[in-house]
Amino acid sequence: MSAIVAIVGRPNVGKSTLFNRLIQRREAIVDAVSGVTRDRHYGKSDWNGKEFTVIDTGGYVLGSDDIFEKEIDKQVELAIGEADAIIFMVDVETGVTGMDEDVAKLLRRVDKPIFLVVNKVDNAQRAQDAVEFYSLGLGEYFSISSMNGSGSGELLDELVKAL
Ligand code: GDP
Ligand code: MG
Repeated sequence: MSAIVAIVGRPNVGKSTLFNRLIQRREAIVDAVSGVTRDRHYGKSDWNGKEFTVIDTGGYVLGSDDIFEKEIDKQVELAIGEADAIIFMVDVETGVTGMDEDVAKLLRRVDKPIFLVVNKVDNAQRAQDAVEFYSLGLGEYFSISSMNGSGSGELLDELVKAL
């Protein structure tokens, strides 16, 4: 069994973009059977010779903000239970949101490696903007652009060390 890495975060931060990058050329394992996992995508990846399974959470969420928040809570709880390490993704374009703070609060109590990843850091100005995410109380973060791939190597180096 390879280690499991879950990507959590509110909608639109870029979770699926990173997921697709991590599993490129590999088959996504889409579990359509279990009611518990139907909304999650699994894929295989590897880095520095270490194989791991990635879970992309929250693929189908639709509806009111209320349902959003409940759904994200559920996804995070499931990820916490199942994963060996958690990527918590936030978005430098929107900055810190209330939902980010809620997820951070949950994750601060979790005794598993948590990687705070500030996505959409496509340029140097955005790298400066990313410092506001220290306010989430999760310590150091990784700045990446899931779209162009920058920063993802540094993230993966540290991620596989923790597996
Ligand atoms: P998810 O809802 O968290 O899975 O987010 P998606 O992966 O579907 O991405 C949401 C939107 O953000 C899409 O329009 C992406 O193209 C965009 N996006 C994802 N990563 C980046 C990035 O690194 N930079 C920029 N500028 N946009 C991104
Ligand atoms: Mg998605």
